[in-house]
Amino acid sequence: MLDWVANTAIVLGASGLLYAQWTLARLLRELPESRVRTGWKMMFFLVPVFILGYFGYIPLNWGLYEGLPDLLVPAIFLLGGCFVCTVVGLTHSSVEKIRHITRLEHESITDPLTGLFNRRHMDRRLDEEVSRARRYGQPLSVVMLDIDQFKPINDRLGHLIGDYILTTLAERMQQVLRRSDLAARFGGEEFVVVAPHTDLKAAMALGEKLREAISGHPITLTGHQAAPPCAPDTLTVTVSVGIASLDANPKSRDTAETLIARADDALYRAKQDGRNRCEASAPASGLSAAL
Ligand code: GH3
Ligand code: MG
Ligand code: MG
Repeated sequence: MLDWVANTAIVLGASGLLYAQWTLARLLRELPESRVRTGWKMMFFLVPVFILGYFGYIPLNWGLYEGLPDLLVPAIFLLGGCFVCTVVGLTHSSVEKIRHITRLEHESITDPLTGLFNRRHMDRRLDEEVSRARRYGQPLSVVMLDIDQFKPINDRLGHLIGDYILTTLAERMQQVLRRSDLAARFGGEEFVVVAPHTDLKAAMALGEKLREAISGHPITLTGHQAAPPCAPDTLTVTVSVGIASLDANPKSRDTAETLIARADDALYRAKQDGRNRCEASAPASGLSAAL
């Protein structure tokens, strides 16, 4: 009778290890190549050794169980199997949870159409960048872009082609920008670039580079499944650009909001002056931009 109890406990412990092995295989599939993964891989090869040890113990001790104290080792085998199974299961659930949270975090700051940051994230980061630039006396600029005559394009070619144009423009912007720059979709067809360590002159050059990357190369529409029969093979889309730099004057009350408002004003002037151009805002303290 004691033999059966002891060996059932050992077999149950081994089943726990087998289940842990299966969970480990799933965990390894989800983990990217890293030191952590190598550690778990070693565990993956160790667990079968323990399983063999469990099953090897059964014939060696068959008929040797005489009293309750003899059940201590099988009980430890059972608890060991349960423990490993629980640890591996919890690790797997934690990895899935972290993955889920990371995806939610990414979605909460990303514009789903273009993959750029969204407005909420840009607002938060601009506030931080303004504080940092003020504290360390570093330059900071904002470049605002608005697609010219986008409504007629949408009306003529449809919103899906409009969306394709927005995505293409976002890609082109990202090719031009530095890693330290932050590009966001500000509104429907408006984008904002926050450029730390960038003064007005450098921001003007950046604005020109962005404008050229967009306006200087037509977008191919041939072959696009949403293109209507009237669609041309290629389409040149232009943007107007407004630029504002943080006022370096320590007495200035320039904030993230005034910076955006000044970039918006400059953009309005670029539109008024004929579109497809860059305009810089005067510093908040009223000094004219020397450009
Ligand atoms: P302007 O040169 O003065 O900027 O003219 P505009 O036509 O670009 O300006 P307006 O503000 O009148 O039009 C903006 C258009 O952007 C309106 C809307 O059809 C389009 N739009 C906004 N968001 C989206 C979007 O997510 N997808 C698409 N396809 N179009 C959008
Ligand atoms: Mg607009
Ligand atoms: Mg527009």
